[in-house]
Amino acid sequence: MNKEEKEKKKSAAREAQRVFFRKKKVEAIEAYGGACACGESRIACLTVIAKESVYYKKRTDAAKLYIELARRGYPNGYEIMCRNCRALKGGEQV
Ligand SMILES: [Zn+2]
Repeated sequence: MNKEEKEKKKSAAREAQRVFFRKKKVEAIEAYGGACACGESRIACLTVIAKESVYYKKRTDAAKLYIELARRGYPNGYEIMCRNCRALKGGEQV
């Protein structure tokens, strides 16, 4: 395999992974209601986070979290939050 083919294969794998994580994210967001409490429903603005306040500060690996939630059947204790609400919530705690 030459270098160019190797690169192509690598970027294809990266793309497949990106698509996979995106799908997991969409599934997780749908499982938790599809929108932030404020009404924001654009996927790019939303994240699923643990209600435990510690997670507002501690940045978790989102891709890992979505896979973990799917594996556990979307348990209680998590909610959808948009960037704005998350920033506000984080600010309250400082
Ligand atoms: Zn919001």
